[in-house]
Amino acid sequence: MKQEAQHSRKLVIATLLIVLLLVTGFFIYSYSRDNSETIEGNANIGTAPNVTGQPTLGNENSEITIVEFGDYKCPSCKAWGEQIWPRLKKDYVDTDKVKFSFVNTLFHGEESLLGSSTGEAILQMEPKAFWEFHELLFEAQPASDHDALWLTEEKISDLVSQSFPEIDLAKLQLKINSTEIRNEIEKDNQLVTQHNIKQTPSIMVNQILIDNPFDYQSIVEAIEQERN
Ligand code: CA
Repeated sequence: MKQEAQHSRKLVIATLLIVLLLVTGFFIYSYSRDNSETIEGNANIGTAPNVTGQPTLGNENSEITIVEFGDYKCPSCKAWGEQIWPRLKKDYVDTDKVKFSFVNTLFHGEESLLGSSTGEAILQMEPKAFWEFHELLFEAQPASDHDALWLTEEKISDLVSQSFPEIDLAKLQLKINSTEIRNEIEKDNQLVTQHNIKQTPSIMVNQILIDNPFDYQSIVEAIEQERN
């Protein structure tokens, strides 16, 4: 009897050990699997955005596409443009290592729509003026009280007539309200939905969604990973 009890105790301990090993193994497996899909909290979301027809800077033939999902009405996008964009541009865009595109992300209603539509219209009418307009509109965003109405037709008219005398304001107005431009906005909305963009700015390096767009090093790491 005593021998039998000892035997069954050994059996229980052995079973427990096997279960413990299996559970530990499972956790190690799932942990390493999760980690293989991320770098420093960045998430591989499977597909890179299709930037056909989007404003693009840098090397058009580069295999690395960086996309900013941004909104002219968004204070963090203004901050990103001032703090991170100049470094990214100098290190990777101006050196032709990557191409960079901006996709409109309309999270702030009518003002977002007006800013985006004007950008799209200028891109069609005077493609060379787009990036300057883009920077000037972010500069025009008030540094405080940015929730107050500021992105108005009057603001757009002033900015365009002062900085882009070559653009006819009446023609620009027609273009802004055209079906062609509404389709471009819809195309951007679809990219936002397709890539499950929840905040602005969101930065993607190919299929990698950057966890913290203000952490320049994590953008660099994603680029270097894609270059290898
Ligand atoms: Ca667009």
